[in-house]
Amino acid sequence: MSAPRVTAVAEASPAALAGLVVGDELVSLNGQVPRDVIEYQQLTDVAELDVVVRRAGRDLGRLVRVRKVEGQPLGLEISAAVFDRVRTCDNHCAFCFIYQLPKGMRKSLYLKDDDYRLSFLYGNFTTLTRFTELDAERVIEERLGPLFVSIHATDPAVRAAMLRNPKGATSLRWLRVLLEAGIEVHGQVVVCPGVNDGAVLEDTLCGVLDEYPALATLGVVPLGLSRFSNEPDMRPHTTAEARAVCAAVADYQALYRSTLGRRLVYLADEYYLMAGLEFPPAAAYDGYPQHENGIGMVRAFRDAFAGDHDSAHGVRPGFFAWVDGAPAEGYRAPTVAPRAHGDGRGAARPPAEGARDDRPIAVLTGSFGHEVLAPLLAAHPRRDLRTIGVDNEFFGGTIGVAGLLTGPDLARVLRTEPEGHRYLLPDACLSQGRFLDGTTPEELPRAVEIVASDGWSLRCALDGRRARPREAQPGGSAGCGA
Ligand code: SF4
Repeated sequence: MSAPRVTAVAEASPAALAGLVVGDELVSLNGQVPRDVIEYQQLTDVAELDVVVRRAGRDLGRLVRVRKVEGQPLGLEISAAVFDRVRTCDNHCAFCFIYQLPKGMRKSLYLKDDDYRLSFLYGNFTTLTRFTELDAERVIEERLGPLFVSIHATDPAVRAAMLRNPKGATSLRWLRVLLEAGIEVHGQVVVCPGVNDGAVLEDTLCGVLDEYPALATLGVVPLGLSRFSNEPDMRPHTTAEARAVCAAVADYQALYRSTLGRRLVYLADEYYLMAGLEFPPAAAYDGYPQHENGIGMVRAFRDAFAGDHDSAHGVRPGFFAWVDGAPAEGYRAPTVAPRAHGDGRGAARPPAEGARDDRPIAVLTGSFGHEVLAPLLAAHPRRDLRTIGVDNEFFGGTIGVAGLLTGPDLARVLRTEPEGHRYLLPDACLSQGRFLDGTTPEELPRAVEIVASDGWSLRCALDGRRARPREAQPGGSAGCGA
């Protein structure tokens, strides 16, 4: 068990006034040792807090007393979300993307977590193979929802084979326990053609209706395949297979609506692209409950680009919308637009609001984004807009989403692009200002402007307006500064 370490102290906060400083380790809070940031939040919610502190590796020798209003944030950021070690996954799925990462990336990217706490905190999916009776008690007692559960197949033998773990056959019993206790749970099925599509997918959709009808939503997403996969049975969908998945989901949406009164199941955007089908209207996504899972992103993006800024969805903040002190690093780091760079390369500031800037604009995106964006830009009144669909050679395989673009691929493309143009890049491919390979926009051969990955922000950038951050808007939606 490690003590939470302070990484930032807000000025004039209760923690600052009590004398806590960056680097302090919080050994105990009112005599209790928090296991994770959820407990930390509960323990620091009180009005009077006695903290045992270790500073520079030594006990401080006195209690630090923090006085504040009950419920007031302490004003600290701490170094981890889980202090008693993240529970790692004991499965070995052939479709696991972590096995398909190249060597030498950030250590945190190789972490195979299967921890319900990270599901609650960050929306990570868990298979529940390491879930215990004690975990169930805690989740139910503390109402730790929503949680996100990987189902893949309801047939025990198929699920165990997909997870390559015999516990996969039985761990969905916990899903039933959680649902019966009224915990909100969202599920997903990662479809691997030839493994759990076709009759197996139908059986799973039927099994959800029979066994887990209280499931909040179910996302059906295709496996991602990089060129580093060495699993002979893992392959991309054919167009016919993608169409069959679309048809099965449409059939079950109708069945669920007639029996449960709601759609329940939603299909990843990639399927519509693979199948060459039109995207459903916004109403068919029922508020985009699985937006961050790539479900409805294209529809929301298009609608936001057309002017409906309520459709400008960002990363779901989950628990972090209110937790005090929880870090994102290593799990879901903020994208953080990097600083401006003055030498004509790297990250650039957008033109000042209202300032005239007639330079042609190119929007960098992945191959999927290119398909979606090209018609939108073609319909824009400006005639000097274009997309640059960047092939993902870093990961290769079927990877076409903008969020997995890396520095080397962007640099390869930008090197051949003319100077004197504006290059816009979605912030989805950055985590704390870095690409997945660890490089930064400052290292690119052309200056790029980082734009939030929603249609409204892109529209504002193209029109020379500044999109306001989401929290600045009433109701939290993004808004254009004009
Ligand atoms: S459960 Fe998730 S992390 Fe674990 S092996 Fe399967 S895909 Fe990878």
